[in-house]
Amino acid sequence: MSEPVTGGPALAQERRLVTEIPGPRSRELAARKDAAVSRGVGTGLPVYVTAAGGGVVVDVDGNSLIDLGSGIAVTTVGNANPRVAEAVAAQVAAFTHTCFMVTPYDGYVRVAEALNRITPGSHEKRTALFNSGAEAVENAVKIARAATGRQAVVAFDHAYHGRTNLTMAMTAKNMPYKHGFGPFAAEVYRAPMSYPFRDAGVDGPAAARRAIDVIDKQVGAANLAAVVIEPIQGEGGFVVPAPGFLPALAEWCRAQGVVFVADEVQTGFARTGDLFACDHEGVVPDLIATAKGIAGGLPLAAVTGRAEIMDAPHVGGLGGTYGGNPLACAAALAVIEEIETEGYVDRARQLGKTLLDRLTALQAQDPRIGDVRGRGAMVAVELVHPGTTDPDPELTQRVVRAASAQGLVVLTCGTWGNVLRLLPPLAMPDHLLTEALDVLVGVFGEV
Ligand SMILES: *Cc1c(COP(=O)(O)O)cnc(C)c1O
Repeated sequence: MSEPVTGGPALAQERRLVTEIPGPRSRELAARKDAAVSRGVGTGLPVYVTAAGGGVVVDVDGNSLIDLGSGIAVTTVGNANPRVAEAVAAQVAAFTHTCFMVTPYDGYVRVAEALNRITPGSHEKRTALFNSGAEAVENAVKIARAATGRQAVVAFDHAYHGRTNLTMAMTAKNMPYKHGFGPFAAEVYRAPMSYPFRDAGVDGPAAARRAIDVIDKQVGAANLAAVVIEPIQGEGGFVVPAPGFLPALAEWCRAQGVVFVADEVQTGFARTGDLFACDHEGVVPDLIATAKGIAGGLPLAAVTGRAEIMDAPHVGGLGGTYGGNPLACAAALAVIEEIETEGYVDRARQLGKTLLDRLTALQAQDPRIGDVRGRGAMVAVELVHPGTTDPDPELTQRVVRAASAQGLVVLTCGTWGNVLRLLPPLAMPDHLLTEALDVLVGVFGEV
């Protein structure tokens, strides 16, 4: 598809500012938020939303902003996508919950069948459903430990895997994710990542050898249950490892009987211009953790993988009250159908080309842009002090503030907070993405 037709309710696809950002009603709500909601729960751009769809988010003051965040890579097929909304409405009228572990229902089984079919690799697979990305990663580790009888887990520099105790331990960055929240889970080790912009001259296979050497010397394959990696890192800065890095790691894991886990919570479901980011290099993970883009905004997550590994835990060892909730399953089936029939994988590539063309042209004129990278509709701009690789988080904040004031929802990421990340819904019409890029280019001229 070139222009999406189905993503979102019939909202005018326009940037329209009628107040300052945030407007008076949003500011009123922000004051109530401060009095009612724990301070620990921050809000990036405190415009309070009343509707969203296609490429826009509409707020309580009547402003229509261009959405370059998709609620952190969640509303891939568009917010309130009609096919998803219809499926959820039908399910909510039939039944809302029974608990799959008490009296099951077919939606769960159908989601499992669909994930077994579309995830990388043609081997026999099984799936288990959960509520959040962190929960999926935790369960992938549980399953890998049950399957191998080993305990250690390796994660990477700049990794982000969630905010539960085990996944905090696996996440690399202290502030804001871990600070003051320890002690963390044991038997989690960290290996060096392939980060081409900060790793000049180290190609993918060499970066893999460097990581494997650390793992060998500091952990030992015989103790290692799982290597968990994001094929393109999300919160850590949209770090795309050098070609050959992931295949070499996966191959080493296979040879050593280590479970290779791809955390595709952020990269999955067409986001990167492949159905899954692992597909790009033909990497077949033993287990894949998915969430975010899976169900159009309803809370759902999954672990999918080799049948013999997935079936290792004892009966009753996996589950949770809400895991694979019927509403979320109905939404996921609609999302998967939408992706498979409406050309979203191609759409992600088109959006990615538009983003990379404009941003690399901007980089050629602006020495503060150290790197432009990403695949599909997952693109980042890393900001540095000119002529160096020294991160410039202050500039990044200034860019985000100026872009927000002009009606863009833009997120940041990166270990140093110096990376702008662009994650438009794939339901974004071309003219809005072009307008967003015009605004962003203008902002770089101003700041
Ligand atoms: C967001 C994210 C998680 C955590 O998902 P939650 O649903 O927030 O628990 C885990 N891994 C990656 C790569 C993510 O981007």
